[in-house]
Amino acid sequence: MTKSIGALVTEHVAVGIVEDNKIVGTVWRFPDAENSSDVLGGMPAEEIVQIIARAIEKAREGSEIDAIGVGFPGINRNGFIEDSPNLKQTKGLHLGDSLAALLGAKGTGKPVRVLNDAAALAAGLAATRGQLDKLVRVWYLGVGIGLGRYPQGDAVSEGGHTVVTLDPKETFCGCGGVGHLEGIMGHRSMRLRFLDLEPEEVFEQAREGDERCREFVEFWHRALAAATASSIHIDGPGKFFISGLNARHVQANMLDTYLHDMVKMSPLQGSALEVVSTSDETAIIGAAVSAATS
Ligand SMILES: [Zn+2]
Repeated sequence: MTKSIGALVTEHVAVGIVEDNKIVGTVWRFPDAENSSDVLGGMPAEEIVQIIARAIEKAREGSEIDAIGVGFPGINRNGFIEDSPNLKQTKGLHLGDSLAALLGAKGTGKPVRVLNDAAALAAGLAATRGQLDKLVRVWYLGVGIGLGRYPQGDAVSEGGHTVVTLDPKETFCGCGGVGHLEGIMGHRSMRLRFLDLEPEEVFEQAREGDERCREFVEFWHRALAAATASSIHIDGPGKFFISGLNARHVQANMLDTYLHDMVKMSPLQGSALEVVSTSDETAIIGAAVSAATS
């Protein structure tokens, strides 16, 4: 049976061993306290690589490994990080080669497959739900916004930066681009837009009838519907999962209504949207499964 290592890098690092689409043993995390978020944000790229390597060594505990997969934010080609808006210092990092070299010196000796973090999540959902034969997409609503696709293929996986408005004042996206989905839905972007309210309070006050918040929540849903419609028009209809910190604010009916308004051609209708809770473990499984089958 294939024994692979999956790693997820977001605002933290999580690593586990995967066998038969399940995690076996302990998941190693850095930092280990759940609430010390965004330590990686201020850390030099080389240090991040060393932390990933150490976590892989710990998870592995000396056992034989067939494949290593790392889910990492941003655009990479064959393990070279071309850009990563939420871990900017890693732009230009040869992550795959550096990790393989660090691990090789300790006897792992396996190539490292690097894929987009949202793509790892999509692969994990496909693997844990028996849908490895289907096209699976997942919106990840976190600090930034990810659109993961399984199979990833050569996809860039930056659907979170889909342009959903032509308003030149929409400039809150972490990448600096104008009119992006992440600039409306991303947690960081919402904090920049509502300097007086936390995102949770915006959704709460919308429920209580506050006009400014209610309008924003509608805009938030229309933005997600628009980006989903664009994905459908390019890639076809299918299953879309929605997960991450802010998925709990999604009102399925509102989203469905907007999507119906935006997708009218009959062969493109019939997509299903489902809010799911995912965890680091889902993406770890996806990274490992992708590495084992590539
Ligand atoms: Zn952007």
